[in-house]
Amino acid sequence: MNETNTQYSGRPSLPMQGVPQPKRDEVLGLPRVHISTHPVMAHKMTALRDKNTQPPEFYRLVKEIGMLLAYEATANLALEPTDVETPLERMTGQRLAGGIGVTPILRAGLGLAESFREVIPDVQIWHLGLRRDENTLQAMEYYNQLPHKVDLQVCYAVDPMLATGGSAIDAINILKLRGIPRLSYVGIIAAPYGLLKLSQTHPDIDIYVAALDESLNDRGYIMPGLGDAGDRQFGTF
Ligand code: URA
Repeated sequence: MNETNTQYSGRPSLPMQGVPQPKRDEVLGLPRVHISTHPVMAHKMTALRDKNTQPPEFYRLVKEIGMLLAYEATANLALEPTDVETPLERMTGQRLAGGIGVTPILRAGLGLAESFREVIPDVQIWHLGLRRDENTLQAMEYYNQLPHKVDLQVCYAVDPMLATGGSAIDAINILKLRGIPRLSYVGIIAAPYGLLKLSQTHPDIDIYVAALDESLNDRGYIMPGLGDAGDRQFGTF
């Protein structure tokens, strides 16, 4: 991670400096917020956070953590009956009712989208490019591959770091315009600030994360966090 982000002005941008932030305890009971308690998740998270974990291993861990999150986030999917012939006889089985969509917020969300594809191979992947302005922390859309035809029972917006909540809120706004019946957000680490913002702005969605951290630093990075999730996945330091 670049410690002194100066963007274009030559001065470090400190958009969260002096901004009041809720404490961890204040957001723990928010409705529809699911924070993983699985011991395997906690174990993998420690390896992910380690500054010595190199990009190939980091990406592998993101995918594994994402698969655990995908299991948790898909636990309440709707099913419909379907006939199946076993080698012995016909029976009524079940299949997922309607399509499942995943929207990775580029580029850091790509690893989590792969996790969902591992769990449900025929997920539709709707890429969405949102860039964070480092000075204002506002999200700006620069790429949108959302199809016109929508036949989904649910769409998961995925982005590893729920920091200020700006990108997640914008992504859900964009997906809501598509008329998808159910939306969820799936991330790896949330800061109390971003979690509260997302939950208050979109109280009708479920939010799944692997961990809830302490705070944002002045630059808007999650503390203790794991640094820049995009750089660490793709080796662009
Ligand atoms: N995005 C990241 O990659 N890391 C953070 O800590 C915050 C936003």
